[in-house]
Amino acid sequence: MNNTADVIIIGSGIVGGSAAYYMAKKGLKVLVLEKDMIGHGASSRNGAGVRISGRVDSEFGIARVAIREIWPTLSEELEVDTEYEKPGSFLMAVKEEQMAALHRSCERALKQEIEAEVIDGDELRRRCPYISEKVVGAVWYPEDGFANPMKTTLGYYKQGRKLGVRYVTGEEAVEIRKCRGRARQVVTAAGNIYEADKIIVAAGFESRALMKTVGIHLPFLERIDECLITEPQPPMFRYRLSCVDGNFYGHQTQHGSFIFGGNTNMERYEDTYAGQPRNTASSVSDKARNAALFVPALRGAKIVRYWAGWLDSTIDRLPVIQEIPEVPGLISACGFSGHGFALGPGMGRLLTEMVTGEPLCADISAFQYDRFHAEGCFGPRTNYPKV
Ligand SMILES: Cc1cc2nc3c(=O)[nH]c(=O)nc-3n(C[C@H](O)[C@H](O)[C@H](O)COP(=O)(O)OP(=O)(O)OC[C@H]3O[C@@H](n4cnc5c(N)ncnc54)[C@H](O)[C@@H]3O)c2cc1C
Repeated sequence: MNNTADVIIIGSGIVGGSAAYYMAKKGLKVLVLEKDMIGHGASSRNGAGVRISGRVDSEFGIARVAIREIWPTLSEELEVDTEYEKPGSFLMAVKEEQMAALHRSCERALKQEIEAEVIDGDELRRRCPYISEKVVGAVWYPEDGFANPMKTTLGYYKQGRKLGVRYVTGEEAVEIRKCRGRARQVVTAAGNIYEADKIIVAAGFESRALMKTVGIHLPFLERIDECLITEPQPPMFRYRLSCVDGNFYGHQTQHGSFIFGGNTNMERYEDTYAGQPRNTASSVSDKARNAALFVPALRGAKIVRYWAGWLDSTIDRLPVIQEIPEVPGLISACGFSGHGFALGPGMGRLLTEMVTGEPLCADISAFQYDRFHAEGCFGPRTNYPKV
């Protein structure tokens, strides 16, 4: 088998898969290396949120491309029902002192020309009667929505393959090698060597270890995020819900189940089984409790499944998207910090433009890796907005 390509992409998540698809559409020969199954990382484990709200200005460009230009017609493009819907979302507060944060979030959105409106608890329950009396207010974002993560990621895979993308699964990249000063080869655990003009690292949380093989240090936090899904429920509402402190988000899916996720705010603790992240008994019950508190009608709902995934989080919660100046030919596309599923389709287009040399659809100057050096220490930066 010929092991050369124009572009090697490491990782078959939504970022790697969408990039492979858009590059193949441009006629490039693309090879995707995936250490496990297709979409095995965060792209198949996430909470399905596709939101344009709550983005810092630097990330808003990619979010705008993804959410306004690509998601609305993606099902037709991929010939798969991605279950993308844009019914709008409520960012909620449960304490009066959280209302100021809602107003800040709303103001930022309006500045970015996103429709947004702060409403009180009574108005929220008028629009969505299922919400608990405990919720004191919300911001309404009509452009937000959700999609099916697995179907979307597999959609890119299937269409990419039709266009000639070669996927090699069960092939773990362990080293990137330079030839004559440029990134050129990818060595795998099985001892295979693949070669290309461009190498894209889209390996989610595990990108850090790969970048280190060519001396590039990306400060990632080792964090797990979790979701659960209920038995199908009678149709209640289509909105996406989230809470201002990040402890809760979710929506009702097309087949009736509710999917919920959120931070636990408990100690940072990672539990793994055979290298895979997994939930803990207390974190699952935390999410179940939140679901019943926010939507009391779900009090008796049975949980059918729960899961965990690595959160691809950098220390400033912004991605690293850049052709690395010290290693020409090597492109970093990782660190989406818990909000990369929604950006994935936009990332595919952007990475294709980076490879072909076309004008970029979004400004990526804020995502260079050397921002972590600029302050001379790895203390967390404060440019990520607190909603
Ligand atoms: C529980 C949870 C909930 C989330 N909720 C949301 C949400 O609601 N909305 C949102 O926008 N985002 C959400 N996210 C974040 C989002 O899922 C990620 O930002 C996004 O999926 C990242 O996509 P990716 O393609 O960069 O990485 P991944 O999907 O992680 O893909 C990386 C791939 O690389 C492979 N890989 C790793 N190392 C190697 C190697 N050495 N060689 C070969 N292959 C390798 C992995 O197996 C994996 O398949 C959530 C994440 C989690 C964990």
